[in-house]
Amino acid sequence: MSSPLPNATDFLPGPVLLLGAPGVGKGTQAKLLMEEFNIPQISTGDLLRGNREQRTTLGMMAEELMTKGLLVPDDLVNEMVSERLALPDTEHGYILDGFPRTLNQAEWLDTKLVAYMLPVVAINIAVPEKVLLERITGRRMCPVCGTIYNIYTQPPKSECICDADATKLVQRADDTEEVFHERMNSFRQKTSAVIEYYRSHGNRFAEVDGDRPVHEVTKSIRATLLKLRHHPEN
Ligand code: AMP
Repeated sequence: MSSPLPNATDFLPGPVLLLGAPGVGKGTQAKLLMEEFNIPQISTGDLLRGNREQRTTLGMMAEELMTKGLLVPDDLVNEMVSERLALPDTEHGYILDGFPRTLNQAEWLDTKLVAYMLPVVAINIAVPEKVLLERITGRRMCPVCGTIYNIYTQPPKSECICDADATKLVQRADDTEEVFHERMNSFRQKTSAVIEYYRSHGNRFAEVDGDRPVHEVTKSIRATLLKLRHHPEN
């Protein structure tokens, strides 16, 4: 018989990686889990977009690559993540969304986390590729609160207006069909190996079916996380 799961409030989430192809729902799920577990979501895509808006040197270097759906060089992204992980709000854990995307980033993260209180656990959100294009091209975001919608499957109550704060929604420049194919190429060539890397970690890896309504996926991720952390080695 399996042992009962601890309550969400009884444990430290520690470092959690949300893995998966573009459009599987990493950002949406990370935001929901962040609220529940009171730990930050660290999205390398959001950090890079923030740098781009502020016209920092990193943002200017990343801009063209992001527009084309190509990956930003590992050393730049690793450095940016290192600075973010040094902030005190990561003390009890955090959700990394969109990182690591290459084996080099995964290995760098391993060395970075050696002294951290808990080992990293990785959850891959699996969604069939044919579903992803509609998710990406239908995605709209609130530029103020970051809520993510989909005009086909999860539309706001009023067209193009955020339910939470009435801001006009925006579409990401790289959420087009053409750039989606390029992003999928990067995913197949580089990031799928990262998923296999964590899969080989055995009891620190799990997969959830992301082709279901948002709240069902959140429920599965939450249960999966509790179960992974309940394992004696984690
Ligand atoms: P995302 O918001 O996660 O879809 O990321 C948007 C874009 O930012 C990607 O297509 C890449 O150009 C860049 N990016 C985000 N995270 C990484 C990463 N870990 N490594 C390299 N490039 C990244």
